[in-house]
Amino acid sequence: MHQLTLAEIARGLADKKFSSEELTKVLLARIAQLDPQLNSFISLTEDLALTQAKAADARRANGESGALLGAPIAHKDLFCTQGIRTSCGSKMLDNFKAPYDATVVAKLAAAGAVTLGKTNMDEFAMGSANESSYYGAVKNPWSLEHVPGGSSGGSAAAVAARLLPAATGTDTGGSIRQPAALTNLTGLKPTYGRVSRWGMIAYASSLDQGGPMARTAEDCAILLQGMAGFDPNDSTSIDEPVPDYSASLNGSLQGLRIGVPKEYFSAGLDPRIAELIHNSVKALEKLGAVIKEISLPNMQHAIPAYYVIAPAEASSNLSRFDGVRFGYRCEDPKNLEDLYKRSRGEGFGPEVQRRIMVGAYALSAGYYDAYYLKAQKIRRLIKNDFMAAFNEVDIILGPTTPNPAWKLGAKNSDPVAAYLEDVYTITANLAGLPGLSMPAGFVDGLPVGVQLLAPYFQEGRLLNVAHQYQLNTDWHTRTPTGF
Ligand code: GLN
Repeated sequence: MHQLTLAEIARGLADKKFSSEELTKVLLARIAQLDPQLNSFISLTEDLALTQAKAADARRANGESGALLGAPIAHKDLFCTQGIRTSCGSKMLDNFKAPYDATVVAKLAAAGAVTLGKTNMDEFAMGSANESSYYGAVKNPWSLEHVPGGSSGGSAAAVAARLLPAATGTDTGGSIRQPAALTNLTGLKPTYGRVSRWGMIAYASSLDQGGPMARTAEDCAILLQGMAGFDPNDSTSIDEPVPDYSASLNGSLQGLRIGVPKEYFSAGLDPRIAELIHNSVKALEKLGAVIKEISLPNMQHAIPAYYVIAPAEASSNLSRFDGVRFGYRCEDPKNLEDLYKRSRGEGFGPEVQRRIMVGAYALSAGYYDAYYLKAQKIRRLIKNDFMAAFNEVDIILGPTTPNPAWKLGAKNSDPVAAYLEDVYTITANLAGLPGLSMPAGFVDGLPVGVQLLAPYFQEGRLLNVAHQYQLNTDWHTRTPTGF
């Protein structure tokens, strides 16, 4: 039963092959048995899950239907869940029980989804390896010596290990797409403003976006349907109708113009990944797509711009965690200054402290123009590159990451080496565009992802292309040994 996708679960529940309660019990038992190897959960919510599963079964018995009614999922631990620990992977929020549900959590619960727990993540979503979590590193089910990617590494590892069919993630610079690539999943970062950020603990507010992680594009369509939509509580949420994502999965790819940026195939890319990307291009060509070489000339500036803007916004967002208004408070403070200093010094881990320092520096008087303002100008140039490219093509295709998963600890002493792994994903966040990563093959037994980018609000197009690709390839069906 644990192999079933969301789409298969919906059919099984509708055909009364099993109940949501039965399925939930099977998955909870599987998590108890296998998660100690992976560390993909920070909190399990067994009681809530069983209550929600029984309620979903009762709704079905009353004639209700719906693709998410009774479907087991989990939330990245930065989505606020009422009465349940919402830690953001940090000691700072280790005992924070959110007083309300994030909009995403509330919407999915209303659709009948069953929450099995809260997944592990890099502290405050800062990282690409899920090693900065206060709750310990997450292991990649494809190789327990390797990282699963981050910052949504817990959601990725849990879904890849078939502990559950799908989970939520968030993506500020790649944190849905990169762990999806490194664990053989399909993950989608929606257009900025498509999914409400209300109740999603902020890292960098102008970049953060929640989205689905699952094994197939078909399942991402189902989960995104439950997450997307206007929310008056989020002033950056956009009031656009939500299309039926599942209905557009079977569109023909005949004549679809795919742009492949020449800058993507530079020296930093593992040549074995380049070859797999070329294979996926060929597979899409066979389905009728037309390939065109394009250029994104300002891509080389994306990493420095992102690593100014994201820390700058983080330094502002995280100022509220001071031991007074929010978060951990140190013991026996000598005075107010000591309380602030030690609460933040003890409550935040080293990567978060590094980002706060970089961000506060970039925003400080005298440096603001040189760093923050400059980075914002680069951001506009990157967006303009995409706008020009999308005049010529419908989709942009390339690798999700320059390398496959690295060994646990391998990049710990060199944070910049980890930042460089984000080169292909962060441009979509800087421009606010939707992006999807899907399985494209393996290098040394480790999964590789291909990334698709589309114009604003074209999530349906991304899912359509990915679904057609998955009907004609079987990478996404491969299961890690031992799971
Ligand atoms: N790796 C990037 C960072 O550390 C992206 C993280 C994210 O998308 N949350 O900032």
